[in-house]
Amino acid sequence: MFCTKCGGELPPEAVFCRFCGTKVKGETLPKRSPKTTIAGILDIVAAALSLIIVPVYFLVRALEGGLHTYNRAAAWAILVPLSVLWVAGIVVATVGGVYTLRRERFGWAIAGAVCATAAGIWFLGLAAITLISLSRDEFRRPAAAPAGQIRGLV
Ligand SMILES: [Zn+2]
Repeated sequence: MFCTKCGGELPPEAVFCRFCGTKVKGETLPKRSPKTTIAGILDIVAAALSLIIVPVYFLVRALEGGLHTYNRAAAWAILVPLSVLWVAGIVVATVGGVYTLRRERFGWAIAGAVCATAAGIWFLGLAAITLISLSRDEFRRPAAAPAGQIRGLV
């Protein structure tokens, strides 16, 4: 492993850096794979696409007259809660995407990918769920990270 401060190469069992004296045990991070980065980007792209596609879809339906066939009050009673859920889903997908990129809060990362799926861009969301599930070990845990691994680029 390498010292997190000076970058000096150390034996895996080192607790303190022999070059600069920094405590290194428990301060290294698991390695970072492109899978997790791609998953984070997919979440954010899905949130952005949903933000564009869903309103356009409803606008086109409205212009075609498709929404007029419903009772107006009933339509609002359905559309308003759905819109609130949709906006919340986009927020969770974006926050989850950012946490995924940072390899933090696995629960939020999965929730973000699930929300990306539910927000309509299901193929990107499902891909993100798969990629995040495969890179579970890259997410920081509250306890010390496994020793003997190189700290990734931050
Ligand atoms: Zn050092």
